[in-house]
Amino acid sequence: KRLEDLNVADTTCGYCAVGCRFDLYSDGEEILAARPTEDEDAPVNGISTCVKGKFGYDFVNSDDRLTTPLVRDENDEFREASWEEALDRVAEGLGGIRDEHGGDALSVIASSKATNEENYLMGKFARQVLGTNSVDNCNRLCHSSTVAGLAATYGYGAASISVEDLELADCILLTGSNTTEAHPVLATRIKQNVRDGADLLVFDPREVQIAEYATQYSRVKPGYDAVWINGITRYIVNNDLHDEAFVEERTTGFEDVKEAVQEFTPERVEEVTGVPREEIVSAAETIAEADTCVFGWTLGLTEHSHGTENVMAMANLAAVTGNLGKPGTGVSPFRGQNNVQGGGGDMGPLPDNFPGYQDIADDEIRAKFEEAWDCDISPEYGHYTTQMFLAADDERVRGMYIIGENAALSEPGVNHAEEILADLDFLVVQDLFVNETAQYADVVLPACSFVEKTGTFTNTDRTVQMVKQVMEPKGDSRPDWKILQDLANRMGRDWDYGSTAEIMEEVNSLTPLYGGVSHARVEAEGGLQWPCWDKDHPGTERLYTEEFNTDDGKAQMQAIGYSEPAELPDDEYPFTLTTGRVLYQYHTGTMTHREEGIMQYTPSDFVEIHPDTAVDYGIESGDMVRVESRRGEVTVPAQVTDRVGRDNLFVPIHFAESAVNRLTDEEHLDPAAATPEFKVSAVRIRPV
Ligand code: SF4
Repeated sequence: KRLEDLNVADTTCGYCAVGCRFDLYSDGEEILAARPTEDEDAPVNGISTCVKGKFGYDFVNSDDRLTTPLVRDENDEFREASWEEALDRVAEGLGGIRDEHGGDALSVIASSKATNEENYLMGKFARQVLGTNSVDNCNRLCHSSTVAGLAATYGYGAASISVEDLELADCILLTGSNTTEAHPVLATRIKQNVRDGADLLVFDPREVQIAEYATQYSRVKPGYDAVWINGITRYIVNNDLHDEAFVEERTTGFEDVKEAVQEFTPERVEEVTGVPREEIVSAAETIAEADTCVFGWTLGLTEHSHGTENVMAMANLAAVTGNLGKPGTGVSPFRGQNNVQGGGGDMGPLPDNFPGYQDIADDEIRAKFEEAWDCDISPEYGHYTTQMFLAADDERVRGMYIIGENAALSEPGVNHAEEILADLDFLVVQDLFVNETAQYADVVLPACSFVEKTGTFTNTDRTVQMVKQVMEPKGDSRPDWKILQDLANRMGRDWDYGSTAEIMEEVNSLTPLYGGVSHARVEAEGGLQWPCWDKDHPGTERLYTEEFNTDDGKAQMQAIGYSEPAELPDDEYPFTLTTGRVLYQYHTGTMTHREEGIMQYTPSDFVEIHPDTAVDYGIESGDMVRVESRRGEVTVPAQVTDRVGRDNLFVPIHFAESAVNRLTDEEHLDPAAATPEFKVSAVRIRPV
């Protein structure tokens, strides 16, 4: 088929939050090609794609796609149903629990794969229709500690930079970020900057691929990030290498931070983290000597029982060195799913915030939403995702509506999560596939993918971009926003949105951060970065150029002390397991497992084992190995590699057969953000 005969849409990638733009071509049945727009002015990247953005579309037309609603019959089997019947069952099931036990007995998990407009409606549906503030999303499992940590220090829980700052910086500090595999196009930009002379410092328990480009790679013992970060800060402030003018004029809390970091001498940092003392000194000097520095991280920093403190320690380091608010400076949490910034946070499917991070406990703000949505809203925060499962364990939560999230694989401690899902009084799953979570559902509703609908995504540097429909929804599947509207109306409301543009208008009217982000402007301008206060505001390339988003306009540095993981290795479980992603796969594999070409490269999970450990246990690459924690076990092939340290193991997160979250811990959560400690589990191994 010739490209000129096909439908084409200029859209935004539906995989990761880099937010590459490209043209998708379809014959109406399937996606046949993805081509970069070749628009050098595209906000983030319109000139290249990674392997997933280029080839990852077999899932759209997969025979596994759910094309009609399913309901559970009297024999406990799924049977196909009409939309009428399925929606009636959902309205009865969720409505019955609400009426008998109150809205707080219900929880909603929203989807960072869905559009901003749809996520806005997920939050509205939870509060207005179900009467619960227990609405949350996958952000809880990844960057919610970033949001909490940055909000507490700077005011906004988001990247301060534009992606181009990764190319402007004289120095980049990366930690807990397998950038090449998780954010390939960002890695390309960082590598280019390094080739042009920038310093790259990589601190990570694994010698990830981007470490090959580093000026300095330091292997860190998992779970002690605040220790080495504080050690760098200590060296800088004790040697008067900090930016005194910036600290004086634009921050508070410096003396407290200076005092708190004194215990982190290079010697102590080496003892605790394994990073040689001279590497702490050299990293500190490199950062201090650079004119500009960006501090980037992913989940290696955040998925800890003290992730928020890790982030605040990093925020302190950026502040004491004055690396904020100027080109080539700033903090950059690299967000994971395509729309976790917008859908997962900005649009307010959150237990504590309305859209735009407006606190539900604030009477004035709550009154604004109560009036707009015509409902009463409790000032009490709802359950975070991780807490929903704990609450369901003792029947405080009895029903769940899970949209585009494969909780049966992605929650920590999934052996327990599976039991909880099975015991719910009523479970609705809305997805493209009958995924592992749907196996426990009473009703499964067929949603459609990003190529089958129009709306917006917000990427990792706060840029809102258009997502455009290029083919009709497969079978009888429907966009999430239409399903939510039908359900809301069945449950007594009167929603009448004719398009996602209309939904965004409602967002604009209620959400100052997105006040000027209309579809018309995003379309015309290619993208808009929030805050964008009104229709004349140009958007915000970089945060904190003038002041921080705090009461006094200054960064509120926080004194951070010593912390350690909740579960330490011991004689019984002597290794520390970390989990993560690989280039060719995506999350729990619902999309990428349907890609024949992609599956050839990574057909299964594996366990990375250090060569010395392999010798000790008589293990060779390819041997099957059982990995056991106090919570469960998985069996995976070994990859013997010195990418991991002697006492560490690594298993990816992508396959149900070896669901690594059988090993992880659902109980020890970050106290501020409720993020689980995916990056540290004590485990043991045995050859099978
Ligand atoms: Fe898509 Fe991310 Fe790859 Fe860009 S880097 S093409 S946004 S998956």
